[in-house]
Amino acid sequence: MEGYNSKSAAGLLVNAALPCKVCGSENVHKLRGEIAMRSPGLKNIDKPIVWVFPDIVVCMECGIAEFALPEAELRMLAKREVAARTQPS
Ligand SMILES: [Zn+2]
Repeated sequence: MEGYNSKSAAGLLVNAALPCKVCGSENVHKLRGEIAMRSPGLKNIDKPIVWVFPDIVVCMECGIAEFALPEAELRMLAKREVAARTQPS
């Protein structure tokens, strides 16, 4: 996958050619997502969100959805979580 580190989950991108891991249905579709991510809770409400645009594999039978974060966004989220945990509350 162009632009992805081969060690990242995005490099192993979820596969719409495989049956659903939950219900076994072959009625799975790859869709393009636009997802705003942030930590839950009121204390995080003012913190900027991180936008990610992953390919999402959705099972049209049971509704389970799966995606891998691109490495840059994953590192950004991980850095914020570490910073949030080291700040006094
Ligand atoms: Zn399913």
